[in-house]
Amino acid sequence: MSKPTSLIRADTKWESCPNCGDDRIEGGNFDSEGDWVWQRVTCTECRSSWVETYTALDRTDIEYREVVA
Ligand SMILES: [Zn+2]
Repeated sequence: MSKPTSLIRADTKWESCPNCGDDRIEGGNFDSEGDWVWQRVTCTECRSSWVETYTALDRTDIEYREVVA
């Protein structure tokens, strides 16, 4: 059986590689649009890579500054 090219949230073990299961994975630069963010993640063990997509939950610890006119 061939491996899936995409995994839904519930089927993903976020801390490990979907190919080899190693936890040595590292993300690249983030791209974003609206409240969606994604990045390409690479496994340093088997060199597989994939895109992980995230969505914003909230904004916290807001520190307001005076608006300079
Ligand atoms: Zn791997």
